[in-house]
Amino acid sequence: MAELFYDDDADLSIIQGRKVAVLGYGSQGHAHALSLRDSGVDVRVGLHEGSKSRAKAEEQGLRVTTPAEAVQEADVIMVLVPDPIQAKVYEESIAPHLEDGDALFFGHGLNIRYGFIKPPASVDVCMVAPKGPGHLVRRQYEEGRGVPCIAAVEQDASGNAFALALSYAKAIGGTRAGVIKTTFTEETETDLFGEQAVLCGGTAALVKAGFDTLVEAGYQPEIAYFECLHELKLIVDLMYEGGLEKMRWSVSETAEWGDYTSGPRVINEQTRAEMKKILSEIQDGTFANNWMAEYNAGLPKYNEYKKADQDHLLETTGKKLRSLMSWVDEDK
Ligand code: NDP
Ligand code: MG
Ligand code: MG
Repeated sequence: MAELFYDDDADLSIIQGRKVAVLGYGSQGHAHALSLRDSGVDVRVGLHEGSKSRAKAEEQGLRVTTPAEAVQEADVIMVLVPDPIQAKVYEESIAPHLEDGDALFFGHGLNIRYGFIKPPASVDVCMVAPKGPGHLVRRQYEEGRGVPCIAAVEQDASGNAFALALSYAKAIGGTRAGVIKTTFTEETETDLFGEQAVLCGGTAALVKAGFDTLVEAGYQPEIAYFECLHELKLIVDLMYEGGLEKMRWSVSETAEWGDYTSGPRVINEQTRAEMKKILSEIQDGTFANNWMAEYNAGLPKYNEYKKADQDHLLETTGKKLRSLMSWVDEDK
């Protein structure tokens, strides 16, 4: 079972005695920087020339410097720029200014796990990753609560890296909810697998396949949209609140019987075999290397896939229907 850590297990004074640089001010960056500051931590934000987030960070009372200056000043560097550019930011702005005893922090393990970033042995390498989007992380902190975090140490140069990571997690509210100890390998591989096989990839493909099946059989796209996409939220909310059991308690017995008998025909042995293959391509680095190659080539296939789905009947139908539902807010 997982090891859990709470407020009493973490010493806030450790991170309060350090100088923190938060690189990036997006979803995670803004939440970390603001909550660190409100927890009495000396924090500066490192942003590139022309950054769209700069004005917001300054408006919110933070000091913004270049990434290189931030690293120079700080001894704890949290890297919260987009994953595909972290290696470049590391080479250009972090590595030249890292000093023995500094700590390099990440919110996701991809670049360390696959060796795109190779820090020197003299620095701590830690991860503090909230299990939620940055806006929720910040809101919970402000309300005196927190979003659970996972924390990991890849390299313990100081001998105190995990205590430092817990202290950082406390400063952003994580230990109020609970921090689970993990490793860079476990976090990275399970995160990639979850988003590919289930959360984003699996769900999007399932919804599209169900929608297409109904439309190809002659049913109206608007009705197919409601049955295969819109109602998914209700089902997921129930699962989130009380697992499969609560979902099955809430739906009809007919729906529950169909769930038991048809579900395993959709997600069958072949699907499970494909999931194992996806997992092994994540574990052996094939996925990460292909993704970096695609990113560095200027995203040709990514843009092709994106365009194809934007033009899919599911999406054009959904746009039209959502405009009829005043309670569904597209921009939220
Ligand atoms: P975002 O895309 O929301 O934000 C990235 C930030 O980095 C922006 O402020 C961007 O500025 C800035 N930036 C871009 N290039 C540079 C550069 N060269 N130097 C300095 N800053 C730069 O990222 P996320 O917050 O989503 O992700 C950050 C990390 O957190 C990733 O490792 C991600 O995997 C992880 N994570 C994200 C979660 C999430 O919910 N989003 C959850 C858990 C972990 P500009 O505004 O100008 O583009
Ligand atoms: Mg420094
Ligand atoms: Mg992810």
